[in-house]
Amino acid sequence: MILRRQSFLNKIIVIHIFSFVFAREIKNVSFPHSYITFANAKFDLISNGNSSNRYIWLHGDEQTAKMALEYHIKKYQGIAFFIDSKTREIPFQSTIIDPNRIFSRKGSYYALRKFKPDWPPGNLKKALDILDGEREEFLNVLMPDKSGYLISLHNNFRGYNVYKEKNKSQKISIKKIENPRDFIICTDANDYERLSSGPFNVVLQNKLPEKDDGSLSWEALRRNVRYLNVETRLGYLSKQKKMLKFIEEVLD
Ligand SMILES: [Zn+2]
Repeated sequence: MILRRQSFLNKIIVIHIFSFVFAREIKNVSFPHSYITFANAKFDLISNGNSSNRYIWLHGDEQTAKMALEYHIKKYQGIAFFIDSKTREIPFQSTIIDPNRIFSRKGSYYALRKFKPDWPPGNLKKALDILDGEREEFLNVLMPDKSGYLISLHNNFRGYNVYKEKNKSQKISIKKIENPRDFIICTDANDYERLSSGPFNVVLQNKLPEKDDGSLSWEALRRNVRYLNVETRLGYLSKQKKMLKFIEEVLD
């Protein structure tokens, strides 16, 4: 067992962001601890193998999702991005913002004003311009190429469930036996066909909504990236692990 664990660890390549472009060439070398920043938030990167797949944990208060991803990236290849935050919102300039509401300029506008409605003249535009530049750099590292997909992991606390996504979805597959708070959102019709034949709740969202709230899923859709959101109840770690495993087995 100890030997197996070690070989797992050896497979986990932690790459330095400045070495990122060389990652494809230098596959079996351990790099110093790597990270990338966006909106003052640091994201730790953990890489395993050479897969194009990407994973991201965005909300610091959703600790089950963090544990699920830490477990998953040891077993499956790709690069995982972990936000360095204990809270949902992150400090930015003189306010706090939801990191999953700043993946468009329009979404960022609402996010910046949510906890600070009044900005001195010109300051809001400056903040938006800063986010625009950083977002582009961040997304260029985060987004997988055509052969991969991006999985985002979330947890819900109460209230939120798959039925709340119904209006934004083009197709839905809700299973009677499943808890409505555990579900997968995907943006690719082929992925939906495969995933919906399994045991889990799945919805397809492959049309941009009228109101862009700045979440990562819409930016993935704009970029034609296969995106999957794995949402479970907070505390349901084994459930979230199973859903991730299912996705990896069903998709290629
Ligand atoms: Zn979340």
